[in-house]
Amino acid sequence: MSAASPIPAAVKSVETRLFIGGEFVPAAEGGLIPVYNPHDNSLLAKVAEATPVDIDRAVAAARAAFPAWKRTTAAERGRLLLKVADAIEADAEYLSELETLDTGHPIRDTKGLDVPRTAAAFRYFGGIADKVRGTVNPVDNGFLNYVTREPVGVVGAIVPWNFPLLFTSWKMGPALAAGNTVVLKQAELTPLTTLRIARLMAEVGIPPGVVNIVPGYGHSAGQYLAEHKGINKISFTGSTVTGRKVVAASAGNLKRVQLELGGKGANIVFDDAPLDAAVAGAAFAIFHNQGQACIAGSRLLLQESIADAFLEKFLGLAWSIRVGNPLDPQTEMGPLTSPGHRDRVLSYIGIAKEQGSAVLLGGGPPNDPALQAGCYVMPTVVTAQPGDRVCQEEVFGPFVSVTRFRDEAEVIDIANATEYGLGGGLWTRDLQRGHRVASAINTGMVWVNSYKRVNPGSPFGGVGQSGYGREMGFEAMHEYTDAKSVWINVDAQTPPFYKR
Ligand code: NAD
Repeated sequence: MSAASPIPAAVKSVETRLFIGGEFVPAAEGGLIPVYNPHDNSLLAKVAEATPVDIDRAVAAARAAFPAWKRTTAAERGRLLLKVADAIEADAEYLSELETLDTGHPIRDTKGLDVPRTAAAFRYFGGIADKVRGTVNPVDNGFLNYVTREPVGVVGAIVPWNFPLLFTSWKMGPALAAGNTVVLKQAELTPLTTLRIARLMAEVGIPPGVVNIVPGYGHSAGQYLAEHKGINKISFTGSTVTGRKVVAASAGNLKRVQLELGGKGANIVFDDAPLDAAVAGAAFAIFHNQGQACIAGSRLLLQESIADAFLEKFLGLAWSIRVGNPLDPQTEMGPLTSPGHRDRVLSYIGIAKEQGSAVLLGGGPPNDPALQAGCYVMPTVVTAQPGDRVCQEEVFGPFVSVTRFRDEAEVIDIANATEYGLGGGLWTRDLQRGHRVASAINTGMVWVNSYKRVNPGSPFGGVGQSGYGREMGFEAMHEYTDAKSVWINVDAQTPPFYKR
């Protein structure tokens, strides 16, 4: 790793300590996690490494804060979350730059998508906090039965490195709105912006202990958090392999688990599709965020009759994507987030070739000498067959496989021929086909004539090996609450059993 480039101004003032019980504190064992800028692999910061001692303290702080936070009115919890959203917007310049430096996301994306969407998620859950209602059920005569939604307790949130800000808001928003307290472990590669959010939360008045942030390594801090008996629920976003470990770790106290895992999205283009829109949508589906998205449209399925015309336009567009320093406002694709991940993505080009793929575009790092030290991979397009590894395994980079199909029945089979089931899309002018295929695709989310739309009002999550549970939407409030059924004897006679 080089330490050549100067540390940018934004990072100099960044918080690098753990956030426990409302205070920034050093790690008990003094360990530090080095954090690098993926543009040139220069050292950005060293962040305190949480170990089990720190996790114990964070869980204790969250447990201590839970009763009062649960009793706080829903309207007050909502008001504080709305203030968090406002604080994020006021801090947008700083947060965008920091997220870009830490992750490699182009600044135009962090400014235009990551930060506004993070604020939007907090605002949505701020607004929903006091709209969660119970029910009254028709039961036996003489009884009133009502059901309330109770917070589950202390939530352990574990997030990956591909959208640190966004996933912090997707988990914190509903968890806090529902009256839970939180211990969040962000990914070791990208811990910086979440610590900034902690500061903003403290400033707007989120009480001490309600939110605790413990950056640490997955195999140690993450595993310990998932096993912890003081945690009532784990909300996990990450790979399917780690998701299985989290489920196993949760068994000790039967904590609730919510899993947002990998994906292998099929993006289907029928012969009646609006071609230019489909080309632009397919490029966004795979190249946005350098392809590091669980919902990426990484399998492009083209109907034979339009495949050549589509590809000519698609390859032209992909070729023209501006790859470069993510701090440059003109940049459309930045580096991948770490050298290890870049190498993994590049390894799939060899794997594709071995299985008979033709590389239609890209297939390596850029030639630009200014980008050689960074984690860059050019937009890559390969041909592939449905059973090939590149159509089955999540590459998680700017890497898309192209497969041709004959008709609707065949493409539904191909789309469903993976173990994943997160997102998928289709492009057609035929309304009936749109509904029919959307229904036949076995995923948690489908986009028709668009791709990768997300909104805090709409549930997000998958089926199969993509996990279970839903983030966002009203559904999220059920994920973070338990139903409690209360029976009141209004005027019922004592039942005949044991009557004396
Ligand atoms: P990862 O599974 O390696 O890590 C995710 C998080 O889990 C990190 O914070 C990591 O430190 C932690 N972790 C690692 N080992 C752990 C363990 N044994 N116990 C507890 N925590 C542990 O995933 P990643 O490489 O950081 O992220 C990429 C993956 O995340 C991809 O598979 C992607 O599809 C998936 N993802 C899914 C969604 C979704 O909503 N479905 C969204 C984004 C990313």
